Amino acid sequence: PKNEKIGIVGSGIIGRSWAMLFASVGYKVSIFDIERKQIDSALVEITKEVKRLESQKILRGKLSGDEQIACVTGCTSLAEVVKDAVLIQECVPENLDLKKKLYTDLDKVVDSKSIISSSTSTFLPSLLSDGMKHKSQFVVSHPVNPPYYVPLVEIVPAPWTDASVVPKTKAIMEEIGQVPVCLNKEVPGFALNRIQYCILNEAFRLVADGVLNVKDVDNVMSEGLGMRYAFLGPLETAHLNAEGMKSYCERYCNSMWNVCQTFGPTPRFEGPVVDVMNEQLCAMTPVDKLQDRRVWRDTCLTHLAQLKKKM
Ligand code: NAD
Repeated sequence: PKNEKIGIVGSGIIGRSWAMLFASVGYKVSIFDIERKQIDSALVEITKEVKRLESQKILRGKLSGDEQIACVTGCTSLAEVVKDAVLIQECVPENLDLKKKLYTDLDKVVDSKSIISSSTSTFLPSLLSDGMKHKSQFVVSHPVNPPYYVPLVEIVPAPWTDASVVPKTKAIMEEIGQVPVCLNKEVPGFALNRIQYCILNEAFRLVADGVLNVKDVDNVMSEGLGMRYAFLGPLETAHLNAEGMKSYCERYCNSMWNVCQTFGPTPRFEGPVVDVMNEQLCAMTPVDKLQDRRVWRDTCLTHLAQLKKKM
């Protein structure tokens, strides 16, 4: 166990995952939530989950399960959770007013050294931290659900974030075994969602145009592109698919450009196509079976993570 402290504010799905990741390398993790019962259930769930992972031999980090569990404690005030923390990971619901209100309170109790790191999926760091006294300590560290099994973290600074904050945050994320990518400047959707939305838009158009059904669209990813993408991204894929990237561009730039001219406008995810997609998806996984399917997904991701470590 280490002597450094991490403060977690908001102990829902994401707060719990972060707590386990920080505890996996021995940080003293302090959890705060406005709902007392959320803290209690977080501690119970984390204990259960760490024990399950340990018994299945897939616990992260080198410390034993009991050592990791002992690193995590609940606390009852915002002032206490931020006190002496090297990093405060904010994990409250994705609601701008709620987050801003929290930062106003946080601003009064945080010292000038702690990194204030938000898990936000959608808000730009400049929007969240504008007006804060401690805005130079603010950064976004956007995880991917479920963070325990998916290592990417997008680190996004505001224009006024102190130059030392991104490298320090990156080092902590690497230390806990995540894989950070640091954006040089903020853009809406960060990087992951910009790419994800391109894929979703084209998936929508293929269904809307009656080219493929839902299952087949998903197969294009899970049985095709996704097989590669778990190991190498689209750019290295292109590099390997010709005699290097320059040769790929020479060979394919015209045909690629021509196909892209047929993409059509950005679809809005509303109207009858949504019902069509929903009906087919519910036939594949009924809503009351979503939790079973999530457990299956996490098992698959665990195996994939182990395979990637071996390669
Ligand atoms: P959640 O609803 O599961 O948990 C939020 C927790 O915050 C609750 O326990 C709630 O009681 C607590 N809370 C509310 N107001 C608070 C306050 N003022 N102070 C302290 N605690 C407070 O939400 P989540 O899914 O864990 O999401 C948290 C953040 O993580 C959001 O910004 C979300 O966008 C981001 N995120 C979520 C996912 C995901 O898939 N769930 C993925 C990446 C990022």
